[in-house]
Amino acid sequence: MKDLLIIGAGACGLSSAHFAKKAGLDVAVFESSDRVGGKIQTSSIENCFDGNNPNGGGQLIAEHGPLGWLDHEPLLQELCRDLGLTPIESQAADEHRYILHNQRLVPLPLSPGAFLRSALLSLSGKIRFAIEPWANLSDNANESVWAFAARRFGVEAANTFTQAICGGLFAANPRETDMNAMFAPLVGVEHRDGQITRSMRGFARRAAQSGGTAICTFQDGLEVLPLAMAESLSGHVQLESPIDNAHFHNDAWSLYIDGEEVGRGRNLLLTCPAKTTATLLRHLEPSLIDFADAARGQDLTVTTLVYPEIDLAAPLHGFGILGSTDPTFPIQSVQFLHNSFSTHTPRHCAVLRVMTKEPQFDTRELQALLGLPAKPKFAVTHTTPMGVPHYRVGHAQRFEKLEDRLAAWRGLHLGGDSFSGIGINAAVRRGAKIITKILSADS
Ligand SMILES: Cc1cc2nc3c(=O)[nH]c(=O)nc-3n(C[C@H](O)[C@H](O)[C@H](O)COP(=O)(O)OP(=O)(O)OC[C@H]3O[C@@H](n4cnc5c(N)ncnc54)[C@H](O)[C@@H]3O)c2cc1C
Repeated sequence: MKDLLIIGAGACGLSSAHFAKKAGLDVAVFESSDRVGGKIQTSSIENCFDGNNPNGGGQLIAEHGPLGWLDHEPLLQELCRDLGLTPIESQAADEHRYILHNQRLVPLPLSPGAFLRSALLSLSGKIRFAIEPWANLSDNANESVWAFAARRFGVEAANTFTQAICGGLFAANPRETDMNAMFAPLVGVEHRDGQITRSMRGFARRAAQSGGTAICTFQDGLEVLPLAMAESLSGHVQLESPIDNAHFHNDAWSLYIDGEEVGRGRNLLLTCPAKTTATLLRHLEPSLIDFADAARGQDLTVTTLVYPEIDLAAPLHGFGILGSTDPTFPIQSVQFLHNSFSTHTPRHCAVLRVMTKEPQFDTRELQALLGLPAKPKFAVTHTTPMGVPHYRVGHAQRFEKLEDRLAAWRGLHLGGDSFSGIGINAAVRRGAKIITKILSADS
């Protein structure tokens, strides 16, 4: 019998397995597909167009899922050290981000001076923003991102920034998105300090002093991480193993495929999407079905486009377009990869990573805005079904209640981004937390 059975070999399942093995636990990971990584997926395209060499030759590292992780998570540093991996960081010189506002690209203001000059808010909107420290406090645990921002910064700022940020980062509607689940640290700052502007300024100052916040990945792309974790867990990860049943009997968990028991363990961690978790555990906790329904996600498509620099009307500076203030704009975000990860892009080319909800988009949407030629020289597209779960208002409370009910089942744990945080950092933090919980229950 194993100490821990894990369903899913994405960032959460594999990092949990890594920390479990490091703590001396015997672990088995079951993955339905024929590869590890889950949403993390990298393609290395050798003969992509090269601006200097029309016959090809420039290499493109295209990330079809996440681009990287924010560098502030010590657990990821520990993971990389354990695996002997050296991350690379996005180039800091090109941190500037734009917001698409009234069909124009407006730089996101990063200093009080830039904020005062910015076209993103009217004068009255700026004054309302500035009196944030005196805004009303609220004990509403089920506030939307938009409602939180409107209460603290005013309606105009909420309309301008929350759509661009929630839409750009999570393809989500800020009026339906749970503030507590998505931006818990900001809610924590409000509870602690009674305001957030000063704390955010302090955070921005400290980040600037330490060289800014970078996005981390690897020379050969992000998939290096799950591949290295799977290699160090060799023999403990079973691919093409779609678990279709889970049962608790005689004080242990059993997993099944087509009626055959494939694993038995004292603890079970599910990191698959909420819908699959609900199917596997509905006989134990029927409310999982409603939970999964509320957290159902949104397909996300990443299109990577390559243009020769000489064909552009003007060079594309900065990190890219964070998001749009217009919810009907068909593009969620655009990253200018040639600035942030030039080692991943062919020389003398502009490389755009465009995120959309629809599987296709018309490149003419970007043509006039960015001064692009009619057609890219190279394009690659990938859709991640249910790419990002949606944490609708009340998600954090629903998850807390669900965990309370599931506590009745010894050794049962929920991970994965349907439940407790979206992103690589959240996945690894959740994995480490669950392993600590298992170890403390054992001691
Ligand atoms: C397009 C896109 C861009 C993103 N950009 C970023 C970014 O830049 N930075 C960032 O930090 N995050 C980003 N994210 C979010 C991030 O990728 C995810 O939050 C994170 O990778 C989720 O990891 P996970 O292990 O929770 O889930 P997953 O990666 O979904 O892994 C779950 C695994 O479970 C397996 N599985 C499902 N059912 C079964 C079953 N029955 N039996 C066995 N296995 C099963 C699946 O095949 C999968 O491998 C992005 C996501 C997308 C889609």
